[in-house]
Amino acid sequence: MEKQTIKIGLPRAMLYYRYRVLWRTFFQELGMETVVSAPTDRETLERGTALAIDEACLSLKIYLGHVAALVGKCDYILAPRVSNFGRHRAMCTRFEAMPDLVRNVFRNERQEFLSYEVDEEMKKAGEEDAFLEMGKGLGFPAKAVKKAYKAAKKAELSHHRERVQKYEQQYKKEGLKVLIAAHSYVAEDPYMGRMVSDYLKRVGVVPVRADMVDRDAALKRSRELSPTCKWEISREILGGIAMHKDDVDGIILLSAFPCGPDAMVNELITRRVKGVPMLNLVLDSQSGTAGVETRLESFIDIIRFQEGKL
Ligand code: SF4
Repeated sequence: MEKQTIKIGLPRAMLYYRYRVLWRTFFQELGMETVVSAPTDRETLERGTALAIDEACLSLKIYLGHVAALVGKCDYILAPRVSNFGRHRAMCTRFEAMPDLVRNVFRNERQEFLSYEVDEEMKKAGEEDAFLEMGKGLGFPAKAVKKAYKAAKKAELSHHRERVQKYEQQYKKEGLKVLIAAHSYVAEDPYMGRMVSDYLKRVGVVPVRADMVDRDAALKRSRELSPTCKWEISREILGGIAMHKDDVDGIILLSAFPCGPDAMVNELITRRVKGVPMLNLVLDSQSGTAGVETRLESFIDIIRFQEGKL
């Protein structure tokens, strides 16, 4: 009998926006199929909200909606545990809890979850080891898994480099430029931050992204704003701001409500970055497009007024 291809579900939320190329390439290199949930819409949010506790951040509610959309459509749904990449390089605790959380929320469904664990600080488990364990657990030989990981990592790094180069070009464009400081899953989700960049483009403003920078360089530059910030992604964003604050006309601090790391880091940014107009925009499940656009419109007017362009 012909062997069935293993189907892996990838929820289009949270770390998908950082690791989509790594994940897809890895599974495809091993001959598996990947299924990605459809872009976020109102139904995704409503399903996720019904599954989450009230205190969960908007990103997590959306994530659970995406997991729900994949239940029963694949052999495994990927839910990694990414705790840290070493000392002072932690991820938000939501990512540490992810496999336990989804297994618990979907405990009544007949759905398997697949995980890998990155915890360099406590368990000395780096990403490559974590993928090796996951691949072997699925029954693939170590040699094939290592080869697939190397190809996937190469593809991921080259994809990120290309995106960084594309954003570097944006700084050279004519007109107002606004730096969006947000986690990628907030900035790119069509039900969260995408409406911000879409609006800016519509009114002739060039949106740029604080996290679209060389990650190692950003981690080093983040120390200029905070030598002690412990969250990896926040540090990349801080580094991106340090690198580009003088190349833009304004900064939008864009968060999902209620985000613990952003509440601290955005406060720090508003205190330490001077001389650039800043807008703190916190999105929740009630944030309609109209309300967000009104705030963006006022912010752009303020920048234009200050620059004598209004
Ligand atoms: S960093 Fe903030 S938005 Fe992201 S998962 Fe954690 S609490 Fe949610």
